[in-house]
Amino acid sequence: MERIKFLDLQKVNNKYADEIHTAAIKVIDSGWYLNGQSVSRFESDYSNYIGTKCCVSCASGLDALILMLKGCIETGRLSVGDEVIVPANTFIATILAITECGLKPVFVEPSIDTLQIDDTKIENSITSRTKAIILVHLYGKCAMTDKISQLCSKYNLLLFEDNAQSHGCIHKGKKTGSLGYAAAHSFYPGKVLGALGDGGAVTTDDNDLASVIRSLANYGSQKKYVFKYQGRNSRLDEMQAAILNVKLHHLDEDIMLRRQIARYYIDNINNSDILIPEIGDMNSHVFHLFPILTSRRDALQHYLSDKGIETAIHYPIPPHKQECYCEWNALSLPVTEQIHLQELSLPISPVMTIDEAAIVVNAVNNFK
Ligand SMILES: *Cc1c(COP(=O)(O)O)cnc(C)c1O
Repeated sequence: MERIKFLDLQKVNNKYADEIHTAAIKVIDSGWYLNGQSVSRFESDYSNYIGTKCCVSCASGLDALILMLKGCIETGRLSVGDEVIVPANTFIATILAITECGLKPVFVEPSIDTLQIDDTKIENSITSRTKAIILVHLYGKCAMTDKISQLCSKYNLLLFEDNAQSHGCIHKGKKTGSLGYAAAHSFYPGKVLGALGDGGAVTTDDNDLASVIRSLANYGSQKKYVFKYQGRNSRLDEMQAAILNVKLHHLDEDIMLRRQIARYYIDNINNSDILIPEIGDMNSHVFHLFPILTSRRDALQHYLSDKGIETAIHYPIPPHKQECYCEWNALSLPVTEQIHLQELSLPISPVMTIDEAAIVVNAVNNFK
């Protein structure tokens, strides 16, 4: 029996093997490994793709989130102690960045229908200390709504995006990552746009913020050996940038292939025990993941595994229940907790075939 992998990264990258090998050898032979042409080209092409004036690359998605928020603290747009609204069911990195910068996360429940932040529950969480919202387009689905945009204007909140799972996602003709004041991106290998190692970036239209972030990522320096900020070292290297340049070129094609698998799941899964969250406009979803909900999640996962189908859980424990955040362990966030108990991600990738998707659908539909 052939196993259906959750995500076959070797296959994903093998599709572009010739181009990736050529790009990698060019970097090796160039003798220039940091802050070179591949990074400049990636920053320029990626900001073009996202539709922002600036892109500053860095070492990871978590670093991108931290640099984005630190940049806002250094420029006076945020202050230590400010409250930041965030969906309670996000990946831990969003919360780690907030607390690392001395800001306070305010957890807002997601909607059980969309799994994205519930925009009807945001206003009640706003206080005089609330200065920003970090929208997370979780699973690759756009979380932006008119209501969120109205709330940002009404309360003068900075809108940030965590675009780690949603490269290429479109909202009203604009890419996510260009919808707010600034956005953080991850190029972790498993993401929709993935490197062959770690990488990240911040996009923004604000040249000043971009330049502060660039120095923060360079030990806090704008001029060699002169340090304006207490910065860090966070760089995308030439090798990863060269590989990302290849993969950015094929991103829309990869997203289209993900959508074909998703379409097949949506049209063919019919098991009354299994709920597919609202998809919305196909252009506003890039299907980084394909989450389903079922009250018999663990049984379904074992059953699929016995049939050779790998699945994953995103995520088993919500941030407020983690040991590192014991001060919030007693919070009650029932929708978030339900999602973490019921979510299962089915295999999806640009190299999965419809035949494989049919095997998954058949198994899921026969689960009793
Ligand atoms: C992956 C991810 C990150 C962190 O990115 P890294 O590159 O792994 O540091 C942040 N936020 C979300 C929502 C993610 O999925």
